[in-house]
Amino acid sequence: MNMSLPKIQVLAKPKLATCALTGCFGCHMSLLDIDERILELIDLVDLDVSPLDDKKSFDGLVDVGFVEGGCSNEYNVRELREFRKHCRILVSVGACAINGGVPAMRNTIGLKECLEAVYLRGPTIEDGGLIPNDEDLPLLLDRVYPSHEIVKIDYFLPGCPPSGDAIWEGLKALLTGHIPNLPYELFKYE
Ligand code: SF4
Repeated sequence: MNMSLPKIQVLAKPKLATCALTGCFGCHMSLLDIDERILELIDLVDLDVSPLDDKKSFDGLVDVGFVEGGCSNEYNVRELREFRKHCRILVSVGACAINGGVPAMRNTIGLKECLEAVYLRGPTIEDGGLIPNDEDLPLLLDRVYPSHEIVKIDYFLPGCPPSGDAIWEGLKALLTGHIPNLPYELFKYE
């Protein structure tokens, strides 16, 4: 049985991109939790589009893309589709990307009811409140969608957030074509 993942064929240093959709940015913080291995990461990959380096647009394809967060508004959907187009391998990282996570708690009630509860009937609302309606605000979707319901996802890395060790192991496995060593301890949630 072939126990290795397809190795990424690249001549130059592989490129990693990350994007943050509807989440708390904790998965990106967890990526930084790899501590001194960040120096190895710099040797291993070039960081492309990412909130970590504030690069906003792609110059071409990247080898691996990490998505944090689900899609709660039309802007998220556009960003995720654009991101997918530029990533050879796309990984859904963390509960929000994989199943909507905490933001998807609003899926249990309708969007209208949700907006009214927050903006019209919230405990700090005075004078009847007002639901924001500005053309610069992205339109909210009827519910929060996990990333794989919007685009094709190649791999999933669960956790809230996945630990820095799990992210490191998953990324290294993708870049080297090995099966990741992800023991139960790395995915044990308190
Ligand atoms: S999965 Fe957890 S840590 Fe990651 S963005 Fe969602 S809430 Fe934050």
